[in-house]
Amino acid sequence: MSEYIKPTTTEVEYVTSDKVACDGPKFSKHPRVYLTVVGGTKNEVVCPYCGRIFRHEQKQARAS
Ligand SMILES: [Zn+2]
Repeated sequence: MSEYIKPTTTEVEYVTSDKVACDGPKFSKHPRVYLTVVGGTKNEVVCPYCGRIFRHEQKQARAS
């Protein structure tokens, strides 16, 4: 059995700060971790504990 549980649905949290703290969704708490949203080519980060995606809403690339 794997200890790493992937969520059945991918949650995307839109944030306006470069760093976020995640301690898990209500049903599955995990130790609080601080994640850097902005970095590299993507303006998003995936929480290694719960798989939530945090996306920076102000730094999204605009199509037009
Ligand atoms: Zn998390």
